[in-house]
Amino acid sequence: MAQIDISTLDPATTVVVATGNAHKLTEIEAILGQIMDECRFVALGDLGSFDDPEENGETFYDNALIKAQAALGATGLHMAVADDSGLCVDALGGDPGIHSARWAGEHGNDAANNEKLLIQMADVPDDQRTARFHSTVVLVTRDEDGEEILAGNGDCEGTIAYDLRGTNGFGYDPLFDLADIPGKRMAELEPEEKNAISHRRRALDDLVSKLG
Ligand code: IMP
Repeated sequence: MAQIDISTLDPATTVVVATGNAHKLTEIEAILGQIMDECRFVALGDLGSFDDPEENGETFYDNALIKAQAALGATGLHMAVADDSGLCVDALGGDPGIHSARWAGEHGNDAANNEKLLIQMADVPDDQRTARFHSTVVLVTRDEDGEEILAGNGDCEGTIAYDLRGTNGFGYDPLFDLADIPGKRMAELEPEEKNAISHRRRALDDLVSKLG
């Protein structure tokens, strides 16, 4: 059920955030709001119930753009932000990459995805276990002249561990040994610590640098 009536929103100052994740909305609002301080950020899910678009792009950028454009189409608003992210493992040629969420088959089955990663990495030596989380964030603005697209990219470097550790975060966090904090898994960080160094944070900072 819609919690906000779209007709009450000013398209000139409303940014629809194409995510169902409340934490992402807070993070995006906190960082982009520093520079887009006249704007109100609203989650797509608070404006109604919309079908998810098919994320059939070949890159993180493609899929972020598909989500942002779908949010504009569904709401008739003029500004949308979306992100797409995933884990890229060097020894697996960049996999799972854009397929991270449904790598083991079912969308968002973190336990099955981590199990698959452990199996695929079982025989990979220590010095070849490098990986990174990647995020691409796009801001799409529509007006009578067309569409402007700005994108930001961010990475968080690390290595894939041999076992699961830590209970915070989500996805592949329990298998991700952080390059920035040796000995720590992503899943052992408090949310604020993760937000300060995450791929999403870096992608948003990159986007902000292009808005300035
Ligand atoms: P999304 O684009 O944020 O929905 O992420 C797609 C998938 O990438 C998730 O389902 C996770 O498997 C993985 N992923 C993205 N960001 C993270 C992260 O911060 N930690 C762990 N896994 C992540």
